[in-house]
Amino acid sequence: MAEKICVAVRVRPSISEESPSGTFWKIEDNRISLHKLHGTPISGLSYAFDHVFDESCSNSKVYELLTKDVIHAAVDGFNGTAFAYGQTSSGKTYTMNGSLNDPGIIHRAVNDVFQKIQMISDREFLIRVSYMEIYNEEINDLFAVENQKLPIHESLERGIFVAGLREEIVNNAEQVIKLLESGEVNRHFGETNMNARSSRSHTIFRMVIESKGIDTGSGDYSSSDAIRVSILNLVDLAGSERIAKTGAGGVRLKEGKYINKSLMVLGNVINKLSNGAKQRAHIPYRDSKLTRILQTALGGNAKTSIICTVAPEEVHVEETKGTLQFASRAKRITNCAQVNEILTDAALLKRQQLEIEDLRRKLQGSRSEVLEQEILKLRNDMLKYELEREKLEMELEEERRSHKEREQRIRDQQLKIENLSSLVSDGDRSSSQDSMKESPKDECNDFKTPCFKETSNNAFVAKRSNYSELPDFSPLPDSFSNVADEDTWFKMNKGYIADLDSLQTTPARKVQSFPPQDITPDCSNDNYKLELQNLKTQLELVIKEKVELQRKHEEEVQINSRLMGEICELKQELDLSNNSLESSKQRYGNLEREFQKLKEERDSLLQTVSESSKNITFLTDQKENILKDLNCEVQRRKDLEVEIKQFSVAFASRQRSLASIHGEFKSKIEKLRAENLVRY
Ligand code: ADP
Ligand code: MG
Repeated sequence: MAEKICVAVRVRPSISEESPSGTFWKIEDNRISLHKLHGTPISGLSYAFDHVFDESCSNSKVYELLTKDVIHAAVDGFNGTAFAYGQTSSGKTYTMNGSLNDPGIIHRAVNDVFQKIQMISDREFLIRVSYMEIYNEEINDLFAVENQKLPIHESLERGIFVAGLREEIVNNAEQVIKLLESGEVNRHFGETNMNARSSRSHTIFRMVIESKGIDTGSGDYSSSDAIRVSILNLVDLAGSERIAKTGAGGVRLKEGKYINKSLMVLGNVINKLSNGAKQRAHIPYRDSKLTRILQTALGGNAKTSIICTVAPEEVHVEETKGTLQFASRAKRITNCAQVNEILTDAALLKRQQLEIEDLRRKLQGSRSEVLEQEILKLRNDMLKYELEREKLEMELEEERRSHKEREQRIRDQQLKIENLSSLVSDGDRSSSQDSMKESPKDECNDFKTPCFKETSNNAFVAKRSNYSELPDFSPLPDSFSNVADEDTWFKMNKGYIADLDSLQTTPARKVQSFPPQDITPDCSNDNYKLELQNLKTQLELVIKEKVELQRKHEEEVQINSRLMGEICELKQELDLSNNSLESSKQRYGNLEREFQKLKEERDSLLQTVSESSKNITFLTDQKENILKDLNCEVQRRKDLEVEIKQFSVAFASRQRSLASIHGEFKSKIEKLRAENLVRY
């Protein structure tokens, strides 16, 4: 059924002594409005809510009027959420946690839940609690300090949940209060400025209430019954003030940014939801941890109440307006709460049912207190095993993933090394042979480094093959023929030869030093000189070229050695990766072994439980036999008594008859004696 979120505003008592100088907030029934000092209301700044609580209102009243229904509905199987929103020091924590004299919503809710379930005799309940904090967009477990940065997971069975979060099964309110206190201690752990932290973090206290109808006829539990599972979130949000006002910087800015992120997304979610059904398809729940966890509470299957706390002081007017606007938007949200009944194994109550029943049978006759304690212990043990297993599975999954990643990285590196090696060996080949492919003899304008060649017979010469076929360029004088001065080349080239043709094809080196072929023979001397000059210039060019080539070669050698260095480094990295792969394999193995051990432990525990149950059955049998024997004995005794009675009756009658015989006898003797006396 669609219903609106219940929204209330609570004004805390004023802290400052100063009396207002310009405006003040006035509360009338369920309306709060900003008034000018002399009483006239300021238009547009009057807001109505389900409740407006003034500074004299107690936590008890807030609970009764705003939250109680949500809590009772949670016991009946509806998801429920109550959260406190407002700027720092406006009274959120006071409302949620309360004081010694006036406990807050959390304490009252916990007490109420246990009181209510005690009055429901036809259902069996299983309640577990968890306590988490979202700080810098990281989820930390307040019941177990080691559980930090927990991820949010989603599964078909469990919906959205915080993986690895410690849950404690509880039987009474006192246990929960103790746990909450230990959670607070954990929150303080290593914290120097608790106020700063608490105003920047969100805390979520969560109760999961499972219940199941008891088949009152036989006291048996029929396994087909649906189990109700409801989640109750009690949330103390981070301060909603804008960071600009607090002047946060540096680390605080980072914290502020995250807090803003969660609260900003909460604001966005509430905005979108308040705009009605049209925009519901694009609610950005996933943009922050807070909204993800509270997803069902906002516009979903849950009963939700929001208490917006405000400070009455004039300096806070802007923040108060902001809070009231947030509250007004929240007021427009409709939720659709329904009882959550499930038939699958997702309910813990169902998963634990067999074991609990087993234990119950075994402990029959024990005092109910002992029984309850034993059951609670077993339940918590089983839950811990489950959570431990879940955690291990997650770790295994994570390990598998990073294992895969590492393998991929190693493969990549190997590929890289192979590539580099082939590059280096190519380079080596080219430098050892001092050869590269001949530059094509086309007329392209690219500047191409001419190549060195080693002739097959180790003769170091400079060739000008086919020179005459290149009419564009200066022909060599006959005396040079096709071969230059070998010594000179040898000295200059240090054993290398240059393909001068390719030098010639280099456009920059095109030398048109010779006059055209048809020059007159008279000028041959001059021409000869000119040609010589040209040749010299060419020679210089070639030498320059040679130097350039040498420089290039050196560069290449340097590159090669750098590449070799890189390969070495990569090899080292590879070795390191291999090592870490090895160690992660070991860790993986260890985890598997641990997992195995835990399984074995659990099996052996189950084994002991079943053995002790056998013992109990054996003892019960013995007792029954003894009772039977005893009954037989009693019966026999009764029979004997009857016999004895009969015997004594017979005995008495016999005695009587003997006595009468004796009397007769005596009288007869008397008679005989008398007769004898008469005779003699
Ligand atoms: P928040 O959690 O919003 O930062 P607190 O709950 O810590 O604010 O409140 C700030 C101070 O005001 C605390 O000292 C608290 O005891 C006090 N306070 C807040 N609301 C009330 C109230 N309704 N009645 C009495 N004291 C209050
Ligand atoms: Mg607080």
